[in-house]
Amino acid sequence: MGCGTGLPSDAQVVNDEMCDVCEVWTAESLFPCRVCTRVFHDGCLRRMGYIQGDSAAEVTETAHTETGWSCHYCDNLNLLLTEEEMYSLTETFQQCKVIPDCSLTLEDFLRYRHQTAKRGNSDRALSEEQEEQAARQFAALDPEHRGHVEWPDFLSHESLLLLQQLRPQNSLLRLLTVKERERARATFLARGSGSTISEAECHRAQHSWFCKRPIEAPSCSVSVSHVGPIADSSPASSSSKSQDKAPLPTEPESRFVDWPTFLQESVIYILAARPNSLAIHLKPPG
Ligand SMILES: [Zn+2]
Repeated sequence: MGCGTGLPSDAQVVNDEMCDVCEVWTAESLFPCRVCTRVFHDGCLRRMGYIQGDSAAEVTETAHTETGWSCHYCDNLNLLLTEEEMYSLTETFQQCKVIPDCSLTLEDFLRYRHQTAKRGNSDRALSEEQEEQAARQFAALDPEHRGHVEWPDFLSHESLLLLQQLRPQNSLLRLLTVKERERARATFLARGSGSTISEAECHRAQHSWFCKRPIEAPSCSVSVSHVGPIADSSPASSSSKSQDKAPLPTEPESRFVDWPTFLQESVIYILAARPNSLAIHLKPPG
């Protein structure tokens, strides 16, 4: 039984046949989740309050695009935490006086980041560079520039940081679903050459997980707009493979990585892209 990175490469994704809510099989169209194999009636989702009012049309629309839609289990990254991890996170929130269910301004966010940094290393808060990085992460969590980050987006972000910090790489890989592995594999094959992929393409792929609405290009270019060279060379459509292999400024010689390395380096961003929210829950480097 090899676990490593490998499921059999010919693994077929078969969606469930019954609605996850009412457990009834019907021939009428069921929404598949883009992450897991659950399917749902839109009526059942509405009845349970998982989709409300005007978001219903949006869900119906997104669910049928290539991007797809995440069900309420997959949408909530906080559910990936164990009870102990959740306890530790709640404790940190309490100590840092973060009020659950409230949105956070940039000031709140930076104050929290400073406090958590101090906790680890008694009197050292964030360096100037780390603070800038935190501000960029805040902007990524607030794609519509509302000046605050919604609580669920903040919680998802903090859950990811905790997973990244506490879980070994192999345990993170086990969180990926067959659908996610297949999508990652397809990306690797499309962007790489043969059995390897350049680090630059690897970074582009990491950004591409977050292009959740291919029609509205601005929503995904937000994530790369800070970095100039990538934004210039990556048009909204992720399918257009750039011919001009523009190197990232920080990497004079491109490193090439194989499939297992690619998957390992991508796993946290693939998980980060699960929620339907347009926020970027963990901003990839570059
Ligand atoms: Zn799901």
